Amino acid sequence: MEQSKKVYLSPPHMGESERLLVEDAFQSNWIAPLGPHVDAFEKELADYVGINGAVALGSGTAAIHLSLKLLEVGKGDTVFCSTLTFAASCFPILYEGAIPVLIDSEPESWNMSPLALERAFHDASKAGKMPKAVIIVNLYGQSADMTPLLSICDRYGVPVIEDAAESLGATYKGKASGTFGKFGIYSFNGNKIITTSGGGMLVSNHLDALDKARYWATQARDPAVHYQHSETGYNYRLSNILAAIGRGQLRVLDKRVDARRRVFETYREQLSDVPGIHFMPEASHGLSTRWLTAMTIDPDVCGVTAARCVESLAAFQIEARPVWKPMHLQPLFQDCFYYPHREGISVSDKLFAEGICLPSGSDLSEEDQNRVIDIVRNSAQRAVSV
Ligand SMILES: *Cc1c(COP(=O)(O)O)cnc(C)c1O
Repeated sequence: MEQSKKVYLSPPHMGESERLLVEDAFQSNWIAPLGPHVDAFEKELADYVGINGAVALGSGTAAIHLSLKLLEVGKGDTVFCSTLTFAASCFPILYEGAIPVLIDSEPESWNMSPLALERAFHDASKAGKMPKAVIIVNLYGQSADMTPLLSICDRYGVPVIEDAAESLGATYKGKASGTFGKFGIYSFNGNKIITTSGGGMLVSNHLDALDKARYWATQARDPAVHYQHSETGYNYRLSNILAAIGRGQLRVLDKRVDARRRVFETYREQLSDVPGIHFMPEASHGLSTRWLTAMTIDPDVCGVTAARCVESLAAFQIEARPVWKPMHLQPLFQDCFYYPHREGISVSDKLFAEGICLPSGSDLSEEDQNRVIDIVRNSAQRAVSV
């Protein structure tokens, strides 16, 4: 049966030049961490997003970790972080023995709520314990509403790390997503809009800080021919081979954004007439890449939950996922403080209960997408008619 071909949520999509660039790395025998492709990838990415510098790393998680270290986050410090995200936004806070304080989303962009952030800062200032950093996450390809968020952080004098792992290629008021904080991070994990199979990038306008990050990421080698170390190091750099893939992927990024936005538009055209289905809004402040098409299914109207819909798709070898389980609902973070959008109203809880991400690959075929649409439509409408 033809049905057995699996449709993935967000598979890698190579362009034409990746293989040639990797071949170049082989021919020059730069099969090493670091090398000319790493330098070029850093420069090309920094140019693309319009920032002074970039450090290529083994993962986005490593980039968040080094950002926290650059901001001197340590044991017992607090760090504010978006609650609706993948756990990798938060894990590095724990690596440094610090404590996350979790901030809800607002309904317009699904990203950090300025109202919740303001309340968290108000309480922190009353308690005389300011956070060392704020990690603002850009979900599913869409920038958070940076103007009000940054103005709150500036007022309290706390630096921002922008987790743009999911929003490379997006813009906010015409400027590249990921360039708004003191530090920004991108991910090239296999499921992201472009990929090196695994990798990440730390970006900033502060070149001295980036040099420090490079030093830590290459085992903190002091300048000496013998191996000398005066600080703890990490093996966090990206390899020259993977950077070659990244350079090729960067060349097709704009095409990937267009393709993902088209996938989203098709879903919206075909499904928004189904009562109870609502798509993730695109806030007027910027352009979303629609890395993943996300929507909510109101179980009271559809008679079916998002979780049930994920199962129906799985039965046809189609990978869909619920929206991220918020960090304040995770067993690991259950003791952390949490600030909902408004007192008693948690936006992220509702998005988790009702949200679903549909297959969104930039090479999703029309045929496969039509199958997804039919199954979603049937499962939502059949439930209503019984
Ligand atoms: C993927 C992702 C990360 C982690 O990136 P890796 O490269 O997989 O370490 C961090 N934050 C968010 C929001 C992500 O989606």
